[in-house]
Amino acid sequence: TPGGSSKSKEEKIFVTVRVRPLSKKELAMKDQVVWECADSQTILYKGPPQDRAAPTSYTFDKVFGQSCQTDLVYEDGAKDVAMSALTGINATIFAYGQTSSGKTFTMRGVTESAVSDLYKHIENTPEREFTIKISAMEIYNEDVKDLLKPGSGSLRLLDDPEGPIVDKLDEQVAKDKEHLRHLISICEEQRQVGETALNDASSRSHQIIKLTVESKLREVSGCVKSFVASLNFVDLAGSERAAQTQAIGARLKEGSHINRSLLTLTKVIRKLSSEKRSGHIPYRDSKLTRILQLSLGGNARTAIICTMSPALTYVEQSRNTLFFATCAK
Ligand code: ADP
Ligand code: MG
Repeated sequence: TPGGSSKSKEEKIFVTVRVRPLSKKELAMKDQVVWECADSQTILYKGPPQDRAAPTSYTFDKVFGQSCQTDLVYEDGAKDVAMSALTGINATIFAYGQTSSGKTFTMRGVTESAVSDLYKHIENTPEREFTIKISAMEIYNEDVKDLLKPGSGSLRLLDDPEGPIVDKLDEQVAKDKEHLRHLISICEEQRQVGETALNDASSRSHQIIKLTVESKLREVSGCVKSFVASLNFVDLAGSERAAQTQAIGARLKEGSHINRSLLTLTKVIRKLSSEKRSGHIPYRDSKLTRILQLSLGGNARTAIICTMSPALTYVEQSRNTLFFATCAK
């Protein structure tokens, strides 16, 4: 990892914030909208007076207001990072935020747009032969489950010289765009099955959809320049879990209210975004960060989309999210 005091554009984690519209529930209780996008990069607090230490203005790479469509969130918040996988650079796109802030809503749209773009590029690049593979997993209580293979048990992580691998994880080759969409919909259904079985599971589990993008020049002679990279779409557990976990602090023990993967991810992101990406980065402390190790840091590119409610009721959670986003940029 390079030292030095300034980070290049590629090295930087691209951090955006999306404020969703008031939900039906928030509307019904006449909740107040307290966050506003002042311009394309600034979010302002417009609510009743708060603790003087609390910032009233936050700046990010991009911010998306209530009326913003997911297409634009993809275009301005994730596309560049996602498309770098076409040239052999590992990429990861996260959705971070409290439960019901819009993570799944946003990641679904972003994944859909990225898949469209990948295939657009493939159609426009006849000189290369592409292969897209997909695998998908859910991490719940540090247990890894296969989302492509319904009913499979916990999977082990193995250390390989090439990096950590998930043992026996199913991987399928997408025949075309429709097939890939179908496989993604299987993963989403699987996650929903889990949610109904275990009350509250989506707020505690992380979902990773991993695409492997390979390509090589269709030339018979000469050197064949081939690319291979992972493109990960990560829908994280509700960030309220991280706040609870931090409150428990050093007495870290496994339990339903502790989310080791989320806590470790926030530490890793903080290390990676600090001026010098040196020192020990605790990838090995959780399943999520071990699985994503080769797609975070180093040459990999990362985009984090932080989602939040505009409502006064959730102002504390929203501030926690904005604080995380600030540390990540
Ligand atoms: P999370 O995954 O963070 O728990 P969801 O993505 O499930 O939250 O969103 C909660 C609810 O809000 C869903 O009904 C979703 O359709 C809706 N929602 C989220 N973001 C938006 C948005 N930007 N515009 C309209 N509805 C949204
Ligand atoms: Mg969700």
